[in-house]
Amino acid sequence: MRILVQKFGGTSLSSPEARAFVIQHIQRERQRQYGIVVVVSAMGRKGDPYATDTLLTLIAQHGDSLPAKERDMLQGCGEIISASVLCSLLRAAGVPAIALTGGGAGIITDNQFGKARILQIRTDRIHQALQSDHVVVVTGFQGVTESGDFTTLGRGGSDTSATALGAALRAERVDIYTDVNGILTADPRIVKDARALSVISYSEVGNMARQGAKVIHPRAVEIAQQARIPLRVRSTFSEDEGTLVTDTIEALQSGPVRDRHVTGVTHVSGVTQITVHAQDGHTDVQLQVFQAMARHHISVDFINVNPGGAVYTVFDHDAKKAVSVLRDIGYAPRAVSGCAKVSVIGGGMNGVPGIMARIVEALTEKGIPILQSADSNTSIWVLVQENDMADALQALHAKFALHDIKELK
Ligand code: ADP
Ligand code: ASP
Ligand code: MG
Repeated sequence: MRILVQKFGGTSLSSPEARAFVIQHIQRERQRQYGIVVVVSAMGRKGDPYATDTLLTLIAQHGDSLPAKERDMLQGCGEIISASVLCSLLRAAGVPAIALTGGGAGIITDNQFGKARILQIRTDRIHQALQSDHVVVVTGFQGVTESGDFTTLGRGGSDTSATALGAALRAERVDIYTDVNGILTADPRIVKDARALSVISYSEVGNMARQGAKVIHPRAVEIAQQARIPLRVRSTFSEDEGTLVTDTIEALQSGPVRDRHVTGVTHVSGVTQITVHAQDGHTDVQLQVFQAMARHHISVDFINVNPGGAVYTVFDHDAKKAVSVLRDIGYAPRAVSGCAKVSVIGGGMNGVPGIMARIVEALTEKGIPILQSADSNTSIWVLVQENDMADALQALHAKFALHDIKELK
């Protein structure tokens, strides 16, 4: 049987009108003779009654009193509501359907509550339901440990559920339905002329996702890449097929990939830059600093080390703790909060001269100070003040003419 996984995100399920589009997409693919597995997120965004963030407000006043295991029970509820409602709608439309929790669908995870990793997927139950011609609706974001505890896969984890199920079921493709027309050259909420790409490689989209492009979870991309399953990212609210994610050379060459150095610009906001100078008598500053961060589970990024000290970033919500940990071990760190990491991403920039010069040009023309920068073969990152972030993204998007990426069809 040809299997298709269709994943619908929060805004795709948030209103009766949106859910009507969802039903149409499922029915269309069913008519094409696919066995359909549907993965759903919680409905809507913060403020909507059953969204994950709204559920979490129920315990927001209680400090950290709820252990991660019990917190997972709360934050995974929204997906159960979505799956039951969608199952009901499908049946009302005459489509045979069943709904399963992550655990019910055989998704077994480790016990890192709040960020569990999938260990295996026992697909018998899904296969049985598909054989009897049912659409199988699975709650995204959820799993279960071997001992039966409910787990969640990390925020945005429904994408991961979808590609992991796609891999386990050897699906022909995984379609990620969302509220934008595919993978765009930038977040359209900030860059108004951002453009949807028709085709993109796993590594490019994985890079964009790791550097803040929220449209797909980076872990979901890794799984699809390992399993060599094509992904489509597309809008629930249109028939446009959106962006194909693949490594197939024919597909890549039919799109704009061949001719571009830069694919997109992304951002991560809410970070603090920390600078630590070696103190008299401390010769192992880097070791001490990063061991201390690790001991206190503070995740660090954008790391530049030199013999005189270290510069790196932490999320704003970890900054106070990071500073106090550093003071405790005898340093006098400088912390600049309210920063944003802006990344220029492109598989084709390796060895191309002048990319950094154009980045500096774009930001200097707008009077935006660069607080720090670093690069790899496929990305250049700059740290700016959060107030400058939108202008920086727009300036870089314009400098690399991303609104005008040539489609080589
Ligand atoms: P869902 O609930 O469907 O999972 P998300 O909110 O997680 O939706 O992701 C979709 C959002 O990702 C879009 O509304 C868009 O604002 C944002 N986004 C950020 N960067 C990009 C990008 N490069 N391309 C497309 N969307 C992006
Ligand atoms: N509902 C979960 C979240 O908001 C999972 C997801 O949407 O992918 O993070
Ligand atoms: Mg999402």
